Amino acid sequence: MPSSISADAAALVPCERPVTVLPGIGPALAERLARLEIRTVGDLLFHLPVRYEDRTRVVPIRQVAVGQSALVEGEVVASAVVGRARASLVCDLADESGRMGVRFFHFSPAQRRKLEVGTRVSVYGELRQGPQGPEMVHPEYRGASEVSLRETTLTPVYPTTEGLSMNALRRAVRAALSFVLPDLAEYLSEALRPSGLTLATALRLLHGPPPGFDLTPARAVLAFEELVTHHAHLLTLRHAQGRSLGRKCRVPGRLLAQFLETLPFTPTQAQATVIAMIRRDLEGTRPMRRVLQGDVGSGKTLVAAAAALLVIEAGYQVAIMAPTELLARQHLETFGSWMRPLGIEPLGLMRLRVGAEAKRAQARDRKTQLIIGTQAMFQEEVGFERLGLVIIDEQHRFGVHERQALTAKGRSGARRAHLLAMSATPIPRTLAQSVYADLDLSILDERPPGRAPVTTVALAETRRDEVVARMRAACVSGAKAYWVCALIDEGEQDLKAAGVLHAELARALPGVNVGLIHGRMKATDKDRAMEDFARGPVQVLVATTVIEVGVDVPTASLLVIENAERLGLAQLHQLRGRIGRGGLPGHCVLLYKPPLGDMARSRIACLRETDDGFVIARRDLELRGAGEIFGARQTGLPGFRVADLIRDEALLPMVAKTAAALVQGDPALLLGLRQRWLRERHELGSA
Ligand code: ADP
Ligand code: MG
Repeated sequence: MPSSISADAAALVPCERPVTVLPGIGPALAERLARLEIRTVGDLLFHLPVRYEDRTRVVPIRQVAVGQSALVEGEVVASAVVGRARASLVCDLADESGRMGVRFFHFSPAQRRKLEVGTRVSVYGELRQGPQGPEMVHPEYRGASEVSLRETTLTPVYPTTEGLSMNALRRAVRAALSFVLPDLAEYLSEALRPSGLTLATALRLLHGPPPGFDLTPARAVLAFEELVTHHAHLLTLRHAQGRSLGRKCRVPGRLLAQFLETLPFTPTQAQATVIAMIRRDLEGTRPMRRVLQGDVGSGKTLVAAAAALLVIEAGYQVAIMAPTELLARQHLETFGSWMRPLGIEPLGLMRLRVGAEAKRAQARDRKTQLIIGTQAMFQEEVGFERLGLVIIDEQHRFGVHERQALTAKGRSGARRAHLLAMSATPIPRTLAQSVYADLDLSILDERPPGRAPVTTVALAETRRDEVVARMRAACVSGAKAYWVCALIDEGEQDLKAAGVLHAELARALPGVNVGLIHGRMKATDKDRAMEDFARGPVQVLVATTVIEVGVDVPTASLLVIENAERLGLAQLHQLRGRIGRGGLPGHCVLLYKPPLGDMARSRIACLRETDDGFVIARRDLELRGAGEIFGARQTGLPGFRVADLIRDEALLPMVAKTAAALVQGDPALLLGLRQRWLRERHELGSA
């Protein structure tokens, strides 16, 4: 694959060097850092703290509140080993203001000597309520003769992983800072930066700010540079595409007309408008590059089918890619039932193992008009014959380079396949123009009619029985229901929980067929579970968040989400979109473990008030709040390292202007920025 950046050139840039060039980082530590996706010096530089500890100030013992972390200095006034089976070392520390305990469950004789009565020590830790009063358990500590724990700047706390200590990580970042900061390239001139700070200063501040310092401008410097890079990169792609030719599809639209006739409903005004727009794109000489945004349930699939039929009628192949196998199979099902009457049989390309060769041959066969699958489709070996249109569903789950790789499959000579990307992440137009600077934007801003509203209630987990009773009633009346366990990572623990819940519900609902689906199941089992629920005898489906994306079972009208407090707003919104799809009024029950934190309470309140994805995305940001500089991102927007499109919205007009100027101006500078900010840089050459 040709790369626009040669390996040699990359080797010259300090940020691109492997972490092992830094003093104190050997292969073992490098391997642990790699688990955090930290491989280069630059990766360390942009590994930013999630919060800070304040060790700049010694706090009098009496002023330390339980639950607070603080640096304390005092004299050991008592020291004893207590307990027999699990001996612990318990000391009393006193300063002028008061006393507190210090406890160690593991300690060496040397440690014990260091904490003898009469020694002065400084400790840093969190004060907790212990059996004999407030104490710190396993604080960091230093004797009077050692280098003090006291710092002049705040101490960064980084995201880390098992086996990698915070101190090792801090040392590694410090080493990276001294390695590159003195001659870090400043790509954006002062006039272009959003604040007076250079990137080097901003990084220094973010990794160790003076106490009380406002970090907003420092963060903005990084976010701005990242956004400019991203935007400029997309503009470059757009320019390149603008020069290529599409596969002109000017057809009478016979298939489309036939399809719309057999459809049990008529397209909404919004759907019709977008279909017309796509039709114009397809008839032009340039390849279509369009993103279709529509909230969950707005009917994007129908638009995709219409586009596909226009291209098929022109004699080209269409490929539809979905982020999960579950969704790909659902599409296979839907498109199959829609298109079979028109004489079109879709081919499924999922994980290519069984019968891979035959499948590949089929994909290359020009009789195959429609291919539906997962990422497996853009594996190297899969070739298409006359690929005219690529449709990517739930496109925010994919990266820019995946989008590129798949459309590249449809290239022959100067001609390229058309692209229709669909996204259920509703973001305002200004943001969308920034995220999809390489694409034209359409919005489905209308829901199909006949949607009954979904009511949402939040109940404490203690009222589970009532919920089960309600589910029983729903099942008796013939409705279908999801019971979702909100799991974090689908680890063993979580799966056990799903299994237990499944058994529990099966017991509580005698005579009701209860199914189970989770991400770790074999694809065929997942299919069967989904099929049994959608069209078979299963009435209640216990599921993990695998069903979050795109799953469409119109008869499902009740949704229970367990541990709802663990999920972000965007995710809850997507999940709730699974119901209220048919004519039946939907009910969504959010079960939570009390007591609810303020954040969870506000999230739930928001969901109860609105089902408008745009409003919810905004509220999500407000809730995450300004206090949290680098908070977890739950908006479902593309993952930047630093930037957050909603939080940084105010920067966007300036970002667009700056990026456009850079694309016109200085290719070397753009290359530098891309090396710094785009992880998938090696993919760029093929874009
Ligand atoms: P999404 O935009 O979330 O992908 P889907 O395409 O899955 O939404 O559509 C949601 C549901 O609405 C489907 O069951 C689909 O058949 C139905 N639907 C789509 N368009 C219309 C329409 N114009 N009128 C009535 N129902 C529609
Ligand atoms: Mg969909």
